[in-house]
This record gives sequence, structure tokens and C-alpha cells, in this order.
Amino acid sequence: MSLTFEQALSQHKQKGLYRERKVLQSLLGMRRRYNGKIFCSFSSNDYLGLSQHPTVIKSFKQAADEYGVGSGSSHFLGAYNRFHHELELALAEFLNFPKVLVFSTGYMANLGILGSLLQRRTAVFADKLSHASLIDGAKLNTAIFKRYSHNNLVSLEKHLMQSISQQKFIMTDGVFSMDGDIALLPSLVEIGQKFSSTLLVDDAHGIGVLGKNGIGICELFGCKPDILSGGFGKAFGCFGGFVASNEVIIENLIQFARPYMYTTGLPPASAKAAHTSLLLLQAESWRREKLQSLITYFKQMAQQLDLPILPSQTPIQPILINNTEQTMALSAYLLQNGFLVNAIRPPTVPENTSRLRISLSALHTENEIDRLLEQIAIGLKLIKINDNPIR
Ligand code: PMP
Repeated sequence: MSLTFEQALSQHKQKGLYRERKVLQSLLGMRRRYNGKIFCSFSSNDYLGLSQHPTVIKSFKQAADEYGVGSGSSHFLGAYNRFHHELELALAEFLNFPKVLVFSTGYMANLGILGSLLQRRTAVFADKLSHASLIDGAKLNTAIFKRYSHNNLVSLEKHLMQSISQQKFIMTDGVFSMDGDIALLPSLVEIGQKFSSTLLVDDAHGIGVLGKNGIGICELFGCKPDILSGGFGKAFGCFGGFVASNEVIIENLIQFARPYMYTTGLPPASAKAAHTSLLLLQAESWRREKLQSLITYFKQMAQQLDLPILPSQTPIQPILINNTEQTMALSAYLLQNGFLVNAIRPPTVPENTSRLRISLSALHTENEIDRLLEQIAIGLKLIKINDNPIR
């Protein structure tokens, strides 16, 4: 039975899945102004605080003065300029891959990879918790799409063994965006080789954060997938996406990736700002170290309070509530008490795994973490006492 547009919305509301945007104003650090009040945000992916770095802002302004605000056309029809080119060269060197291609967003980078490299009979094997852009890209481009259990190599191998496809593709997040745990890269590389399968890892949340030098999951484990994707919207504090791989694959993307060819190019000022962030995240390792110490602190304190955290070693620290209504209520309670923390619900996460998604940043303080955890503990108790959501 087909639904009218109105029915689709009211059904969505009834399920408790209706999303509303808050009109926020960013202030210094992780402060945000909302409805005339100041909040501490734990919902930003600006893990290193580089979006506010004076050098990044200055380089963005200078590039905008020189080249304007918009790129004016697609990369092929005139948008590609020296800032994009220099960024690609610098990223390739940093990530230790032969070539990099910069996309307008990370979402488009993943759609571009899958759209240009998959054929209808390519079998794709995706971790169940892979980012929506990987899943959408696969669904659009292949008839054979299998999802293996999260970080479960036995499940992956089982699917691969049953496959008769000539061309195989394994894909996963590096750091899982809603759970914060990390893909088992060395085993994935081994399995990829064993089954002659191409391995794609989206390390949007790992690059800049993981590894001594911030190179991401590849540095953490000392090995590399065939294709690495990522974005400038997280640790870089900027905007845009990219793919790193060998020359042949990157050339395939340039020639065949429709989300690269048929969209307006990344503004040159964004490319320049991302390049400046790249230099800073290499030079200012104290940001990564501070973030790491805040992660350790958060976990210790949350454990002391017996909060239902997940085994994440990254700045993404979920508090698992399961029930969607209760998760929404807890997020609303935190808002009443001065904290912006996103409630994550299906379909972003599987049914009955709703959670608060806490994102830590080098801009947070231990004191802010203490106050947040204290309020979460109180909020959770209120849920339990009422055995129904706080209103
Ligand atoms: N991959 C992952 C793992 C992500 O979390 C996101 C964004 N949340 C993207 C890709 C998309 O990146 P962008 O925001 O640059 O489109």
C-alpha cells in the first residue's frame, strides 16, 4: 500500500523518529548559543578543534579574497585549481598512497568510488555498521550486496566462500561513526588478499585522530587497504572529501565517477583551508595527545559511574540506552541542563540500539566531562525510577 506524503510523515512521527534541526550559533570552543542560552556541545566531529584555528581561518579568508567564495563549475569545467592540486599532492604524501582525488564531500567520494568501480555482478561485502554513503553507493551500483556481522571476520569469510562472483569488494568504516570502535584492518587486508577482493576503508573519523602522526587507521595497524576514503569535515575542521589509492583506481574515478564529474567543485578556499589544517594536524600533535587523554578520562569516569558505555577507544563515545523514547528523553534532559548531545535512533543505528552519541574534542575540558557525566547519571536514574521517559 502506498502512503501519501502526509501519511509518511505522521507514521515517522508516531514511531518517534521525527528529526528536528536546532538553530545553533557557534561560539568559542565547544560553546553554542541556542534559544538565547549557552550550551556545551558534545555533538561536533571537530575532534581537534581546527575549525576555529586562526591560521586555518586566515588561509580560508586569503584564498576567498584571491579566488572568490564559490568554485563556479565542476572540477572538469574549470573549478580545479592549484589549491586542489596542492592539497591532493600533500595528502598523498601524508597518507603514503600514490594518488589522492579530492571530492566535494565525503558522501560523494564514497558514491563515486562505488559508482565507477562496481559492475552489476560485482559482489559487495559490507560491515553491517558501514556508513550510509557506502551502503547507498553499493545499493545503487550492484545486484549482489551482502552485509556481514559487525567486525565479524568469520561472518565475512563465510559470505566470501559462498560467493561465485568474479569481482569482489569488501568495504567498511575505519572508525565506526556511531559505535566508535575500529575495524580489524590487518585481518581485513589478509582476507582481501586471500579472496582476491578489493578492500575499501572509509576512515573519515580516524584520519587526524588515530596514530602518533594522525595518519589514521593505516598508521595504527601499519597496513593499508586498496582504497581509503575520508573527509575534511571531521578532524580537519573543514569541508570536503577525498579518496586515496593507486594511479589506476584514481584515474578510473576521474574518468567515471559521476559524483565527481557532475557537481560543483569544492570551493578553492575550502581546499586551501583543508591543506592548512593538514599541516597543522601534523605539526601540533598536542591536540591529538590532549584528545587522547580526554578519551581516557571520559572512560574512567563513566566506568566509575557505571554508565553503559561501549568499548570505544576513539572520540566517539556512545552511551547505549536501547529504547528510543528514553534516549530522546535523556537527550532532552541534558539540553535542559546545558548540554547538546545527539540522540541517535533507527534507521541510523539498528532497532533497539538507540544511544547518546558523545563526541569528544581537544577543545573540551575535564571539568566539562565531569559535569556532563554527572547529568547523564542523574538523567538515567530518573528514567529508571519512572520506568518511562522523563518529560
Ligand atoms: N563517511 C563517514 C564514516 C561519515 O561519518 C560521514 C559523515 N558523517 C561521511 C562519510 C560523509 O562525509 P561528508 O560529511 O564529508 O559528506
